[in-house]
Amino acid sequence: MGSGPSIWDRVATRTRTLFTEGLHAAGTPLTPGFYDELTETLIAGDLGPTLSGRVAEGVRRRRPNTVEGAQTALADELAAAMSTRPRALFIDARPACVLLYGINGSGKTTTAGKLAYLLKQDGFNPLLVAADTYRAAGIEQMQLWAERAGVPCFAGQPGGDPGAAVFDGLKVALHRGHDVVLVDTAGRLQTQSNLLGELAKIARVAGKALPGAPHESLLVLDGNLGQANLAQARGFNEALKITGLVLAKMDGTAKGGAVVAIETELDVPTKIIGVGEGVADLAPFDVSMFARSLVQ
Ligand code: GDP
Ligand code: MG
Repeated sequence: MGSGPSIWDRVATRTRTLFTEGLHAAGTPLTPGFYDELTETLIAGDLGPTLSGRVAEGVRRRRPNTVEGAQTALADELAAAMSTRPRALFIDARPACVLLYGINGSGKTTTAGKLAYLLKQDGFNPLLVAADTYRAAGIEQMQLWAERAGVPCFAGQPGGDPGAAVFDGLKVALHRGHDVVLVDTAGRLQTQSNLLGELAKIARVAGKALPGAPHESLLVLDGNLGQANLAQARGFNEALKITGLVLAKMDGTAKGGAVVAIETELDVPTKIIGVGEGVADLAPFDVSMFARSLVQ
């Protein structure tokens, strides 16, 4: 799955402005106080105090002489904090089942559509499953995105059991030879334990229809929410064992710094990034491109 540089030019502008202004306010030559200020800047950029201190210390150990040198060192340190986790989607199974979770409005349906399009471009034969059956509009939105992506959509019954939709969708995928099934679910809050339990049931039903499923349980986060995403990620991960994060809405005014903190705390990799409302505005997550987009 490739991505052009233009995707990364549009990422995390709010954090980039904060970091570059913070760095350039110091001016060259760098003073010892620079690293305290850098720590404060990183905290303001949602990295949290512990990680901010560690990253600033890492920059100091690289002994940059200039603001530009510190900028490069910061990008390297941010990348190093994220570099160890494997990020490719686990979609080797035939078919592979990918569940998309998140709060209302985080970008699940849009991501499902864009991901279907990307996978199709890469030679896959995806099936979308609309399992946000609680609202008629939820199913219609998924169908609309399926049309945009040029991918078929299996829809559950409005008001029906989302587990049944997933079970039937997986059987259809097996029957028709789809190699990857993307399941859009209803939005839930991380504090709604009974509703998270319903999502866990969907995952169990998927495993009954298709041994080994779900192969991916992706949590879609709204990049604009910054630090608030940490609480969401904790809650969903406890209830549903998240295998990867999707950062939606990273264009515009997104706060990218929190991603580094979430990854580090939960040890769950970001796998996909969304940068707009067009069908092609999605890319596999790339650590060094992301780190550079936060700083330069
Ligand atoms: P869901 O409730 O989680 O399914 O969220 P939706 O997929 O319906 O998205 C909610 C809103 O966010 C819609 O208006 C989308 O167009 C918008 N959205 C989703 N992803 C992105 C993105 O990457 N960039 C921008 N700018 N908007 C997005
Ligand atoms: Mg939706």
